[in-house]
Amino acid sequence: MTEPGNGDHRSQAWRERARDLEVPMRAWIDGRFVDAASGKTFETISPRDGSVLAEVAECDAEDVDRAVAAARRAFEDGRWSRTAPADRKKVLMRFAELVLENLEYLALIETLDVGKPISDSLAVDVPGAATYIQWYAEAIDKRYGEIAPTGPDSLALITREPMGVVGAVVPWNYPLILTAWKIGPALATGNSVVLKPAEQSPLSALVLAELAAEAGIPNGVLNVVPGFGPTAGAALGRHPGVDKITFTGSGEIGKAFLRYAGDSNMKHVSLECGGKSPQLIMADVPDIAEAASSVASGIFYNAGQTCHAGSRVIVDRRIKDELLDRISTLAQAMPPGDPLDPETKLGTLVDEDQMNRVLGYLDIGREEGATVVTGGNRTRQESGGFYVEPTVFEGVTREMRVANEEIFGPVLGVLEFSDEAEAVALANSTDYGLAAAVWTRDVGVAHRVAGAIRAGTVWVNCFDASDATVPFGGFKQSGTGRDKSLHALDQYEQLKTTWMNLKV
Ligand code: ADP
Repeated sequence: MTEPGNGDHRSQAWRERARDLEVPMRAWIDGRFVDAASGKTFETISPRDGSVLAEVAECDAEDVDRAVAAARRAFEDGRWSRTAPADRKKVLMRFAELVLENLEYLALIETLDVGKPISDSLAVDVPGAATYIQWYAEAIDKRYGEIAPTGPDSLALITREPMGVVGAVVPWNYPLILTAWKIGPALATGNSVVLKPAEQSPLSALVLAELAAEAGIPNGVLNVVPGFGPTAGAALGRHPGVDKITFTGSGEIGKAFLRYAGDSNMKHVSLECGGKSPQLIMADVPDIAEAASSVASGIFYNAGQTCHAGSRVIVDRRIKDELLDRISTLAQAMPPGDPLDPETKLGTLVDEDQMNRVLGYLDIGREEGATVVTGGNRTRQESGGFYVEPTVFEGVTREMRVANEEIFGPVLGVLEFSDEAEAVALANSTDYGLAAAVWTRDVGVAHRVAGAIRAGTVWVNCFDASDATVPFGGFKQSGTGRDKSLHALDQYEQLKTTWMNLKV
């Protein structure tokens, strides 16, 4: 028998902690945990082994009503909305600190709930959430209004006011980070928030709510209503008392939110609805090994469940074989593993449905005539969890569904081009426009191609480089509006003009 290495001891330690873990299970409304009005609950399953993690309050329209009423009361009486920005800053800074103080607890919850590797939850998701909350906290007392250049007889102030009650509806792929992208700027600008986490990943949002209260966010300012999309999500989207919806998820549901707004009170809506991001590899790629590694991490990180995952590689025919060999070798070196093992790089799909959806696309790709170079199967079935091998399809062409539809799994499609115009045409040939990358030594080509690609972010000789300072969002059907950066603050504020007659 071989001795367990350090990694084995560490995974054992995480497994033991997972066994004893206590998780919040009730909705958070008006500053306390409450059951759903109906008394109903739903199971949240760990995709690591298919076990039931918790029975969580299943909120529906009645609970959304209660949460919106609490948020409205808090907004109207000014307990948060009319505080000084410097005071909101202090509370939000403390909130960010508390997130970090609970790093391991939050990371474990996130990993168990969605199946992402514990090393990623510890290094990326929890610190990322804290960073975004802190960044907006630090920004908010440095924001000025304007005085319009009207002339001497009047004084026109242009000021920013919070929207009111913000409904935030988030998906399951980065529950903590995406929640922070929304509640950071929404709370910093003085709004009240009703947050609906995805039904697949309700737990970390409930922990955040409790930490926010501990940091000093007043009752009613942040509410969390776990529940299903067509019930709790739709109730929030249609609610006449909600002033703004900020959503990340599928295009289909993004469009539903636009309809909900049109059918109700014309609430503001901003949407981030996924992508089919291309990585263009020109023949003069500066370092093909680095590009291959970036392509592999760009699609396999988080098991491909990333809105801007680089799911299409568009490569110059002359270097296709070499690039493909390198990517395949990298894919084979990252077999899916137990998310609680600190050595694991690739965890699970979020649930059985998502796994079946991805496996369905693997069949579609084969039927359409693409060739599986590596991967292509479910794996670790004996664990009871939902694991799919990192998969590379060669011979993908622009008409194929696997070249156009968001698979949201560890599946890369390889397309080839002969010249720059064809590369750009392929890059732009989907309904999405979230992100893209171009790899070339030639600054002229880089600049021209970046300008021609219709996407909210274009990386040059890198992929997924990012921090809080830059906006993130999509062209075309990847959405409307932007998360992150100072621009995100605009989405949670109304501009007000106050025109004063100075001649009286
Ligand atoms: P995904 O395909 O990534 O699961 P969805 O767009 O289905 O993305 O889900 C993103 C968020 O939208 C989740 O919080 C989900 O509960 C919510 N949602 C799903 N369906 C609806 C709906 N019909 N109305 C409102 N919200 C919904």
